[in-house]
Amino acid sequence: MFFKDVTGCRELKENLLQIAGRERVPHSILFTGRQGTGALALAIAFAQYLNCGNRQPEDACGECSQCRKYARLEHPDLHFVFPVARKKEGPREPVSDDYITMWRQAVLENHYLSLYMWLEAMGVENKQGFISRNESVQILKKLALKSFEARYKVMVIWMAEKMNPHAAGTLLKILEEPPPGTVFLLIAEDTDQILPTILSRTQIFRVPGLDRDLTESIMTDMGVDDPARAERLLRLSEGSHLKLQELVNEDDQATYNFSMFVQFMRLCYVPDFVGVTKWTEEMAARGRERQKHFLNDALRLIRGNFILNIEAGDMDLLTEEEKEWSAKFSQFIHQGNIFSLCDEFSRASVHIEHNGYGRLVLFDLAIKTARLLKT
Ligand SMILES: [Zn+2]
Repeated sequence: MFFKDVTGCRELKENLLQIAGRERVPHSILFTGRQGTGALALAIAFAQYLNCGNRQPEDACGECSQCRKYARLEHPDLHFVFPVARKKEGPREPVSDDYITMWRQAVLENHYLSLYMWLEAMGVENKQGFISRNESVQILKKLALKSFEARYKVMVIWMAEKMNPHAAGTLLKILEEPPPGTVFLLIAEDTDQILPTILSRTQIFRVPGLDRDLTESIMTDMGVDDPARAERLLRLSEGSHLKLQELVNEDDQATYNFSMFVQFMRLCYVPDFVGVTKWTEEMAARGRERQKHFLNDALRLIRGNFILNIEAGDMDLLTEEEKEWSAKFSQFIHQGNIFSLCDEFSRASVHIEHNGYGRLVLFDLAIKTARLLKT
């Protein structure tokens, strides 16, 4: 992982680069920031930079043998501790190492990972995750190992506030007499839940949220081509990369849904059932959740068009682009068909939810819509 993988945080990165350049690196650093701000990614990037065999002025080289192992998060001197929960088929008292492969995959997939996302990846999203008493035994074991090949042995403790008191006590003892060559990188969202005695032995860095002046980098990173849209998304993200990703996805999906809705209505109006077949093929390929999302959006669009038609004021909840198209289309949604259209789209959604065969459900919906548009 690289510093450049986290957008923004310029000052903090400069600080970390300086620290890495010093003779003595603090043996314990805590990165704290709200969910989705990239604290975990920065900690790993810092660890990689510490150990890189060919440090560049602003980032690790990415090519040396240390960097290559870090890229897969599989370096033998890089250890992870994170909250886990008991799974039915898993060990009775799980520790991080039981789920390390899954963890690496989850972090590499999205380094802004939240605790909920992680527990979901583990398949235990309805449970609380903890760093257990057992884990402290593992930590001690790992510290006893000689460093294999790296300059620094690094122990990343993610969501350190989830440490059980016994584990926290063990960590405190270690920090009182830190083993040479080992760096502890703690990551926490809420430092109030961490022992003050641990905090006092730790250098603390606050990871800031996304800033207004990042609009341009956001546009490049997320492939958003309209500056006004990038700014709006940035504002709504409340500083969280994670939320920003979600917003961009939702936005993309809404745009896609709208264009699919326009196609669907055109095909039904003609009616062109060969076209409908192709349309259902594309939609079915996108999976059940997407289909449900489309049907929900379609319901909103139908309602919006009806409201436009009866000139019921600004309750239509349509975007400008949608409104422009609806100016012509809304005449086809009226009191004579609004009830049936809403019923049919809702029913289709229920059928898909209950494992109905997507293509058939949608084709059936098209036949009914074609008839209703002519009412
Ligand atoms: Zn390197």
